[in-house]
Amino acid sequence: MQAELQDLKNRLLEVDDLNRATAVLSWDQSTYMPSGGAEARARQMATLGKLSHEKFTDVAVGRLLDALRPYEESLPYDSDDASLIRVTRRQYERMTKVPAAFVAEMTNHGASTYQVWTEARPANDFRRVQPLLEKTLDLSRRMANYISGYEHIADPLIDQMDYGMKAADVRRVFGELRAQLVPIVRAITQQAEADDSCLRVGYPEAGQLAFGLDVIKQYGYDFNRGRQDKTHHPFCTTFSIGDVRITTRVRENDLGDALFSTLHEAGHAMYEQGVSTALEGTPLAGGTSAGVHESQSRMWENIVGRSRGFWEHFYPQLQQQFPAQLKGVSLDTFYRAINKVQRSLIRVDADEVTYNLHVMIRFDLELQLLEGSLEIRDLAEAWHERYETDLGVTAPDDRDGVLQDVHWYAFIIGGVFQGYTLGNILSGLFYQKALEAHPEIPAEIGRGKFDTLHNWLKSNIYQHGSKFTAPELIERVTGGPLRIEPYIQYLRTKYGELYQL
Ligand code: ZN
Repeated sequence: MQAELQDLKNRLLEVDDLNRATAVLSWDQSTYMPSGGAEARARQMATLGKLSHEKFTDVAVGRLLDALRPYEESLPYDSDDASLIRVTRRQYERMTKVPAAFVAEMTNHGASTYQVWTEARPANDFRRVQPLLEKTLDLSRRMANYISGYEHIADPLIDQMDYGMKAADVRRVFGELRAQLVPIVRAITQQAEADDSCLRVGYPEAGQLAFGLDVIKQYGYDFNRGRQDKTHHPFCTTFSIGDVRITTRVRENDLGDALFSTLHEAGHAMYEQGVSTALEGTPLAGGTSAGVHESQSRMWENIVGRSRGFWEHFYPQLQQQFPAQLKGVSLDTFYRAINKVQRSLIRVDADEVTYNLHVMIRFDLELQLLEGSLEIRDLAEAWHERYETDLGVTAPDDRDGVLQDVHWYAFIIGGVFQGYTLGNILSGLFYQKALEAHPEIPAEIGRGKFDTLHNWLKSNIYQHGSKFTAPELIERVTGGPLRIEPYIQYLRTKYGELYQL
């Protein structure tokens, strides 16, 4: 068996090398590449993607997985080898069901739709992307239909990002969350708006970057195995466990933008840096699902980075960095400003409390489109209606309506949004578990120390990489299924104090 296992690992290592090389090209494309490189770069990435796909779906891989079944069954479920064989088989079965030509068609269609969207959004012209989006919906349905035996047509698409979650599960959890959130938002927004003008007075870039880097160093993001560069849309990318990079952007008239994106991406990156090195070069070397990944970014960004204790420690340092801008601003005023809740139009700028309502609108619309109960030609109108009912705001146009998120215009319709809110729910659930084990964590955060929390996350979540599905990991860490109560409790406590609810 050892010969077969070694053969499989060698093949997977080559696939991983090709995928990571693609990630380097993509990182470069988003950071330093001159625009003249765009055409060749797209081709180079497509070539590597094709080679990786061919190698991974080779019939020899299927034969090795069959031959290794008795060995896998002889091992404990959570051993590295059994997990490697199990997860590889799951991915192999999925990828061999979807023809390579179809994947290429979908990638090409995504790339050309994205190009049109970059012009249609500033021009507020939904009609221009409408026929392309109709094709995207058709392709998305075809993608789902290659995977047989689903309950809901969105299930195979959700599986790609959050394996093991069904549309019905997500709908139920989102319904419970919505019922709790709507009254909280109503109670908060009936009060006077928090004043966040102190964040917009002009903060030079160098100081912003230096402060953010200092915080994530304290968090435990390892700069010997990572770095931060500038980009348009911040992201985190992994070249190996020894090289996990983040990116940010700076707006001098918005202090929160770079800082919280840095804390967010560092949360993603610490997860990837914390994977056991025994899993390097395999499909297990990375976070397990979109939702669990987002739970880590949101925990470090919001639960830690927007907490009162955190700022009791860091605010004097921020004032030192920006004495002219923050001299007369009290900690209270600053804390309220970075936690301002308001009904708004744009998901990526939304606060912690309303953010999930934005996500749920998109998730529901995706399901309706896939089910066929909503047509693309009625999508812009349906978007406006939902924003009026759910958030009580009216977008003046489609630019800040249906055209605002890139996901449908570059990738696929279905499975792309639920991870954001699952991540928020999970951040509260995991943090509660960490506090049960170490009640001293909030006091440590108040002293600018994060080791206890970071180490708890490493040993309970990070080190496992993708060995366990999200539902398996939740069960192992919390002893039960996904629950919204800890997250709701977190919001109630924090915003109850802030707004005297
Ligand atoms: Zn994220």
